[in-house]
Amino acid sequence: MKETIYLDYAATTYTKPEVLEEMIPYFTERFGNPSSVYSLSSHTKSAINISRERVAKAIGVEANEIYFTAGGSEADNWALKGIANANKNKGNHIITTKIEHHAILHACEYLGKNGFEITYLPVDQYGFVSLDDLKTAITENTILVSIMFANNEIGTIQPIREIGAFCKEKGIIFHTDAVQAVGNIEIDVNELNIDLLSLAAHKFYGPKGIGALYIRKGIKIDNLIHGGGQERARRAGTENVPGIVGLGKAIELAAAKIDENSARLKKLRDKLKDGLLKIPHTRLNGPFGDERLSGNVNVSFEFIEGESILLLLENLGICASSGSACASGSLDPSHVLLAIGLPHEIAHGSVRLSLGDGTTEEEIDYVLEVLPSIVDKLRKMSPLYDYKRQINR
Ligand SMILES: *Cc1c(COP(=O)(O)O)cnc(C)c1O
Repeated sequence: MKETIYLDYAATTYTKPEVLEEMIPYFTERFGNPSSVYSLSSHTKSAINISRERVAKAIGVEANEIYFTAGGSEADNWALKGIANANKNKGNHIITTKIEHHAILHACEYLGKNGFEITYLPVDQYGFVSLDDLKTAITENTILVSIMFANNEIGTIQPIREIGAFCKEKGIIFHTDAVQAVGNIEIDVNELNIDLLSLAAHKFYGPKGIGALYIRKGIKIDNLIHGGGQERARRAGTENVPGIVGLGKAIELAAAKIDENSARLKKLRDKLKDGLLKIPHTRLNGPFGDERLSGNVNVSFEFIEGESILLLLENLGICASSGSACASGSLDPSHVLLAIGLPHEIAHGSVRLSLGDGTTEEEIDYVLEVLPSIVDKLRKMSPLYDYKRQINR
């Protein structure tokens, strides 16, 4: 059996053994419904409380400002639709960006069809939004700004501090999709003036299907699920107790080692990036400097198709992604790559390699050993490459 080299940590991570270990009793002996009154339930109730406190501590907020959800997409949807509906008496304008995750973009599209006006801010060639563009975009009807903390495809970390300060000054609610940032970047929600923040456990070595929405105390938002009193009646339904326990453990583990892990990943990332950029006609997508996720490399190889590269990598046991996982399977190039100004044909030749806890230097060396010949092989078969060589002659 071939060994797998997993370089798709931005799509999802494995669950750490320590995390799983804490979860297991909540599938078996500690199965009580947290809403019941007998002592079998006191275990589950207190496990949820502990987890809520761990999540709150990791981002510098109060435990009663954390609401568990079934992942990042749910948190994003709740934030947008919940704020929009609860504040529509104040205005109907929402500002976001062109490079958000589809959980934001498609929720905005839905709101756009239901009486809200959406502004999609452009980004520069590295994926940064400009504060000036944000300032120009606001109107007296603006009720919400939603800008992602860090981009899942090209790794761009936005100037969240400046955006948060500006929104606070204007009295506009500020949500950030921090699904890629939490666990990788130190976040103090109050220092950054964030009003709502989405996170998901499976991006930082917790289980899938569990996440959270931070909602600042006093923010007006519609309830997500009507039913019982769970999550202070804002998101009803018997809690995913093992998932919640896993989220709490995973965020605590990640928070304890953010600096150490990100320093290690940056070194590997830069080695991979520098090696790949030696391949002719290759460009880096996203920023070069520190404002980039520590595990993200995204490159475009001109004249070839990202999907073909993925297939050949797959033959060697290497898992990577072309653009975002959600975009795979469709022929449209990634909206993020188009937004940073890549022409269609170059966007099509893009590959994302995202590094994580399990990534070793040997794996990076191996990728750097095999990728140049994969690119070369595909270019030799590419009519585009041939044409280019002829006109350069
Ligand atoms: C993964 C991801 C999501 C979606 O999270 P799920 O838990 O898969 O629903 C949303 N936003 C960003 C930036 C992501 O990377």
